[in-house]
Amino acid sequence: MSSSSSMADQLVMCSCGSSTSCTTSWTRRNPGRRFYCCKKKGRGCGFVAWADPPMCPRSMEVIPGLLSRCNKYEEIAKSRAKENLKLKVLLGCSWFLFVVYLLFK
Ligand SMILES: [Zn+2]
Repeated sequence: MSSSSSMADQLVMCSCGSSTSCTTSWTRRNPGRRFYCCKKKGRGCGFVAWADPPMCPRSMEVIPGLLSRCNKYEEIAKSRAKENLKLKVLLGCSWFLFVVYLLFK
């Protein structure tokens, strides 16, 4: 594990003398590939260098599909959580009405 992450953990200095930050690219051509960019105040000096080796064609093909599937399932999970909350509120209301019915019947 250390051999694959060690490159991104190294302190990389920009050609302008500022430090760099390591960011992950989520473009279609480089999904999940990390790169360094200049941390100079403002918009940086434009320095960009890859931290990870080039993507293999197969991973460039597979990863975007997996990401979109992952995003779709996250959306489904969010909507189910909202639905669950609604159902819990309805269940609480029905129990409240049931208790009220038992007390005043
Ligand atoms: Zn720079």
